[in-house]
Amino acid sequence: MSEHIIYRPPFEASSVLIEVTRGCSHNSCSFCTMYRGVNFGRVSSEYIDEQLGYYSEYEPDAERVFLENGDAFCLDADSLVDIARRVRESLPKVGTISMYASVRNIASKSDQDLRRIREAGINEMNIGVESGLDEALRSMNKGYDAAQALRDLTRLRDAGFDYFANVIFGCAGAGNGILNAEKTAELMNRTQPALIFTGTIHAEEGCPLYEDMRSGSFTEPTVGEYLDEEERFLELLSMDDCIYFGLHPSNIAPMQGLLPEDREELINEVRMRRKRLEKVLDSRPLRGGEGAVFF
Ligand code: SF4
Repeated sequence: MSEHIIYRPPFEASSVLIEVTRGCSHNSCSFCTMYRGVNFGRVSSEYIDEQLGYYSEYEPDAERVFLENGDAFCLDADSLVDIARRVRESLPKVGTISMYASVRNIASKSDQDLRRIREAGINEMNIGVESGLDEALRSMNKGYDAAQALRDLTRLRDAGFDYFANVIFGCAGAGNGILNAEKTAELMNRTQPALIFTGTIHAEEGCPLYEDMRSGSFTEPTVGEYLDEEERFLELLSMDDCIYFGLHPSNIAPMQGLLPEDREELINEVRMRRKRLEKVLDSRPLRGGEGAVFF
């Protein structure tokens, strides 16, 4: 029932989506075209009530709510606590309230803010961490470095939130995949996300990375390099209890599993894919919409 452009992670397909902001407060990651041309802003309190009224009538048993849009966690703590209260009043069976968040959104909140938000019933964050390698974070213009990501993701976890991490293979460019895998696995191991959602770097017209790829100032890894990076990443991951969700259409080796128990199976999947794609390992993937790969 949204009036505006909205995105949600694939695993939120059955969640109630409540729009609380429009666009993204950062809106300048080098690879992202999601909200280009959308002016960032909050939606009105009346519109939030209108959405909650609709869902309390048509989805009264909803258990999961995802707050929209690109980084809804940019809202201040008082606003988020108030929204959580209204969600719980309208949908009393809700057990999970999640949203997209950035490391910068955590940094702007005190530990006390984080605890208040968590106590209000917001308990999960979906974060585009992308990488643990400073050079890659800088070139993607994420607005934080690996040390800040470690500090703020740790604060988030210490306040009692689960977090889902988005990771982008190839974001460090050709020749840097193994280093990116090592640094990103280290960040994941130290912050223990409940889910890792993987994709590969791609750019559509209208973002800086698209121009960088065209001009040659950013060189995408080859198919073989992507697979080497993912294999190394899986080898190094040391997760206590994590879903590995590798089903983004941009992935070279689509797969999913649980960590730690499915690690060998996932690594074997990468190896089998390498064998199957033997003839194109030195080429770059052909892409469609959302970076979907074709062979
Ligand atoms: S990737 Fe996320 S934080 Fe970056 S511009 Fe896009 S929506 Fe905003």
